[in-house]
Amino acid sequence: MIEIETSVENLSGIGSAHADKLQKLGIRTVRDLLFHFPARYDDLSQITPISELEPGQTATVIGKITGFEMRRSWKKRMDIIEASIEDSTGTIGAIWFNQKYLIDSFSRNPNVRLSGKIKHDPKKGLVISNPVQESASTDPTHTGRIVPIYPETRGITSRWLRWQIGRIFKMGFEIKDPLPEEILKKYRLPSLKKALYDMHYPSNDDSHLVAQKRFAFFDMLLIQLKTLQLKKHWKGESAQKIGYKKEEVEKFLKSLPFRLTRDQKKAFEEIRKDLERAHPMNRLLNGDVGSGKTIVSALATLQSSGNGFQSAIMAPTEVLAYQHFENFSKLFSGFDFNIGLLTNSYRQIVQNSKFKIQNSSSKSKNLTRSQILKAIKEGNVDIIIGTHALIQKDIRFKNLALIIIDEQHRFGVMQRAYLQQKSSEINDGMKNKLPHLLTMSATPIPRTISMTLLGSLDVSLITQMPEDRKPIITRTVLPKKQPAVYEFVRQEIKRGRQAFVILPLVEESDKLAEVKAATTEHKRLSEEVFPELKLSLLHGRMKPSEKEKIMMDFKGKKTDILVSTSVIEVGIDIPNATVMIIEEAYRFGLSQLHQFRGRVGRGSEQSYCFLFSKQSTKRLGVLDKYSDGFKIAQEDLKLRGPGDFFGFRQSGLADSTMQNITNIKMIKFANEEARDLLKKDPELKKHPALSKEIDRMSENIHLE
Ligand code: ADP
Ligand code: MG
Repeated sequence: MIEIETSVENLSGIGSAHADKLQKLGIRTVRDLLFHFPARYDDLSQITPISELEPGQTATVIGKITGFEMRRSWKKRMDIIEASIEDSTGTIGAIWFNQKYLIDSFSRNPNVRLSGKIKHDPKKGLVISNPVQESASTDPTHTGRIVPIYPETRGITSRWLRWQIGRIFKMGFEIKDPLPEEILKKYRLPSLKKALYDMHYPSNDDSHLVAQKRFAFFDMLLIQLKTLQLKKHWKGESAQKIGYKKEEVEKFLKSLPFRLTRDQKKAFEEIRKDLERAHPMNRLLNGDVGSGKTIVSALATLQSSGNGFQSAIMAPTEVLAYQHFENFSKLFSGFDFNIGLLTNSYRQIVQNSKFKIQNSSSKSKNLTRSQILKAIKEGNVDIIIGTHALIQKDIRFKNLALIIIDEQHRFGVMQRAYLQQKSSEINDGMKNKLPHLLTMSATPIPRTISMTLLGSLDVSLITQMPEDRKPIITRTVLPKKQPAVYEFVRQEIKRGRQAFVILPLVEESDKLAEVKAATTEHKRLSEEVFPELKLSLLHGRMKPSEKEKIMMDFKGKKTDILVSTSVIEVGIDIPNATVMIIEEAYRFGLSQLHQFRGRVGRGSEQSYCFLFSKQSTKRLGVLDKYSDGFKIAQEDLKLRGPGDFFGFRQSGLADSTMQNITNIKMIKFANEEARDLLKKDPELKKHPALSKEIDRMSENIHLE
């Protein structure tokens, strides 16, 4: 019997060298080893009589080694063992490379179980090439069963893991099942011990699937419990009540050149009501690219500023923060608010009658850092817009009551949490209150995910596009047809429109290659394809001031075509740009392509998106067919399976849970059971094991 919290180092046969390597896989204890689940399984359970073997097949045989010899191939620099194996039906050859040590074990124990690929050798007839082998007298471990293939690391092979995990089961262990008995019975789920066994020793095709389901259900139950607890905790916090400024809202809406869509109105209503409560809002505004989330967030700040409170808006990039700054300055030109911008490169305030800052160097718009921090602290900035620069430790507010985070998935949880700490810590004038929080995202989030990972958030959805929008005409373009597209771009530019050429990057880390690709393409297009047009280049290695100038020139129609890397991805709003070319489109996820495409089609003109690709695929065709980001995400889900493309890969959930994340029934059941458990036992006093598991999970998983 072994204690499961034992450190792996204390197991016989695992030294500190192995322990270090195991640590790389996140394995420290016996328990971690048991929870190191296979990435996949190879079914080697069928034993085939030797006489029935056929070339090409992967098969398992049991037989006796009747003879073997080893030779050295000098040409290939390999030791080669050749053997013949016999069962009651026939004989077959087997061949191994560089596994000298087998000789010894064959002499000791000639009865073997082998799995491998059957090949036809012109001289020797049928042979099994480089098979996995083990002694036939042992329990099937590496062959002769459904064999688990584990996530490995250098020096830790699946074979080694099977052996170690097998030993733990042989020694025996106690593990308390944190899932209450009634729930196990009700859903006919295997006990924890049985499920663990089945993950490592599946007895048939679906015993590991049933086990996986149990683990997924359990994870979901934990998530639901945690979420409900968070929600309750949230309700216990207090926030500044922000009253409805009806007249200001009417004045603001009148100043807009358009009317709000139904969904925009509804979202604002929901936000307004949240703000009127004495508890902090925690709401996600989810709407497709171009659906008009900015206006809704501006209405929220209008409530806050109208009541004399401060708001902060955080964007993931400087370009986007700058755009919001300009946008808000314009939107609120009829109001007496000071609007500030704080990023690493910019410190500006659009001032109004209330307040003037003496700016030492009158030429530069930039204030000193201490000037802007002072203005924020003294309440001389009503709406402060910025990037990560907003969450530096030395920033104090006078009365921050509302925080808005744009493109929320681009920020870490810690950063969000920092901004929303107790006002007493960052807010001088509002003790013991939390600011209201509005996050915005264009990532389509399936209901199952918002019910699990985002469960403690309220969600406002914008499903409608503004009325004047025409769907973007999207086509996959093969190399042969690309010159025709360039001609089309030329025509559009003649008509006064503008175009983007996007060279998105594959590896987030490979910034340099991306810059190089964009630079080369910019040169080629300017010199060879569009010598008569004005092209500019935008990439992530540029200084913010350069980036800004390029964006502003493009916005001001000083350039015709903007060649850009993926820095363009979020939020840029240039309604006059109507054509987009995305190069090497086949390499990207549909949702990502849809986000890029969202940079055009922002005005009333017909817009076009050309996906340059070596071949036309069914997947890219989805973009021609649908313009709704949500539908596209669902198609992507069907074609690719749930993975990282919702941006939740980093969430820390096990693969088995991710596999089931779209299983709405399972989530509903987990939700019901969680509610029931907490109703009977709010502190989970009767379920200490469950409480412990919730804590364990919270360390690894980021819940909103
Ligand atoms: P996103 O939701 O992607 O952040 P934006 O807020 O940037 O979208 O809005 C995209 C464009 O749509 C902007 O130019 C904005 O002025 C415009 N817009 C927003 N709401 C409406 C509306 N109701 N009718 C027409 N245009 C609108
Ligand atoms: Mg936006």
